[in-house]
Amino acid sequence: MSSQKDIVIVATKNKGKVREFAHALAPFNKEVKSMFDYPDLPEVVEDGATFSDNALKKARTVGDALGLPVLADDSGLCVDLLGGAPGVYSARFAGEDATDEDNIEKLLEQLEGAQQGDDTGQPLLSPARFVCSLVLYDPQTGRTLEASGEAEGWITTERAGNGGFGYDPVFYVPAYEKTMAELTMEEKQSISHRGAALRSLVQQLGSHEL
Ligand code: IMP
Repeated sequence: MSSQKDIVIVATKNKGKVREFAHALAPFNKEVKSMFDYPDLPEVVEDGATFSDNALKKARTVGDALGLPVLADDSGLCVDLLGGAPGVYSARFAGEDATDEDNIEKLLEQLEGAQQGDDTGQPLLSPARFVCSLVLYDPQTGRTLEASGEAEGWITTERAGNGGFGYDPVFYVPAYEKTMAELTMEEKQSISHRGAALRSLVQQLGSHEL
């Protein structure tokens, strides 16, 4: 049996996602490459109305440009009290070049604004969910597989943890009584939207086909 690792190309420039995919796919003996390994590819404009539209667009644009199978993830945070925002705008909620910290600031500002007059002093501001849409696309056969996953929690004013990325420090997970950023990579993967979507994709495929 060869110990040579197969390559899985993930159509993302998000370092947090790259780390999570690398960790999740290591047990399948897969090595993850990302857009950092293919810097000359065309930029994908994420202008879809849904996570699924954007994931399909990323997978097809990058897969067709490389002529190789590609896995794409589009994901984000949907907050009940904000009518599902920031949703597909999660990465650029506070502007095109927003950092994770800028986005968290804007989220807490908007939620604290939305709660005015009803301020109970509670750290938990609103129920929220992370959503992930995954697409695996093979340009040689045209085969396109889709899977999705969600993770339920609450937005908290009390930031905690250094793990994960994005909104994780303010996403409180009741089952662990911790924020997503306080979980280990294994714990996050076992309950996260990305973990759930990946498990669903692997179930459709059989891991040998990934
Ligand atoms: P995308 O690269 O357009 O899919 O943007 C995803 C954005 O959603 C990220 O930049 C984060 O702001 C947010 N996001 C997605 N998944 C996670 C997660 O697992 N934790 C925290 N934030 C996430």
